[in-house]
Amino acid sequence: MSRTTVATIHLGALRHNLDRIKRMAAPAKVMAVVKADAYGHGLERVARALDGAADAFAVAAQGDGLRLRAAGHRQRIVVLSGPDRASDIPEMQRLQLDAAIHHESQLPWLAEASPTRGPLRVWLKVDSGMHRLGFAPDRVAEIHGQLSRMPGIDPEVGLLTHFSESEEFDGSETAAQIARFNEATEGLSGPRALSNSAGVLGWPDAKGDWVRTGGLLYGLSVVSGKTGADFGFRPAMTLSTRLIAINRVARGERIGYNGTWTCPEDMCVGVAAVGYGDGYPRSAAAGTPVLVGDRRVPIIGRVSMDLVTLDLRNAPDAQVGDRVLLWGPELPVEHIAAQAGTISYDLTCGMTRRVLFVED
Ligand code: PLP
Repeated sequence: MSRTTVATIHLGALRHNLDRIKRMAAPAKVMAVVKADAYGHGLERVARALDGAADAFAVAAQGDGLRLRAAGHRQRIVVLSGPDRASDIPEMQRLQLDAAIHHESQLPWLAEASPTRGPLRVWLKVDSGMHRLGFAPDRVAEIHGQLSRMPGIDPEVGLLTHFSESEEFDGSETAAQIARFNEATEGLSGPRALSNSAGVLGWPDAKGDWVRTGGLLYGLSVVSGKTGADFGFRPAMTLSTRLIAINRVARGERIGYNGTWTCPEDMCVGVAAVGYGDGYPRSAAAGTPVLVGDRRVPIIGRVSMDLVTLDLRNAPDAQVGDRVLLWGPELPVEHIAAQAGTISYDLTCGMTRRVLFVED
């Protein structure tokens, strides 16, 4: 079956975005966050585009570290939520992956790290208020001491924390998290890593020694009402498909599953070959825009598995076979995400295997 929905990954945009992050974060180093298959853009592809430019890669799962090493990357790689079990430790040492330690249960595994296999580099995660992963602030100094004395562990133990709402530039929670982190880590040696993308944009006090940026790398923003482009970043993904039918439908007829949209007049309805089976959000409300050529037209009715229906009254010259742009530099994915009640990361991560990926 030929695949009509195409995700084009803009490698130049990735490089531009990393360069911009580096300039904004300097002198801090940059961990390029490439978890979840590089936010749906393709792990190996993104790592290849950024090789040599990123100071380190950050992944969620150890398997992604293995994939990066198998692809020949020699940079530092941080596994943000690993190890998951004792047997991960020798593998992490073999692959020279940094481990982020967030829980008591991981400590006995680390104590078994082999001193002869090359010291394991470790980051200690501080729970500064998000209450997801990490040690409570009052345990940090003790655990840091324990880790730095373990024979198989590099004595330079890093310290990291994660912000829960750094995109709220006027809020008080991030400032409180920074203060709790600083207090918990005062006097301890080792590099600090606090900021995610929104931290880099809005919280210069949280630069630390490293930043961990995902979204901005792909040109994505989670700041309400703002696109990545509003901050000078370039979208790294364009999603497009084709118009496969144009039908004349009479006034009063209802469109698609459950007939949720009624034609207000006799009109042309376009059918584009994309649906939630490709990762286009089923929750995208009627009115969500797409571009047919240079014409902005709204989706009408429900998004189905393989198809969406379009009100073509604003595109009278549209032809079967025309390209339909679903998001990209000309149509910010942040706007589509807002229509679907989610964030841009959720959409780019959600591309399914039916989508054809190409690079430019
Ligand atoms: N650090 C950690 C621990 C994360 O979980 C994430 C992403 O969720 C990031 C950094 C990167 O966040 P962002 O993509 O907003 O830059």
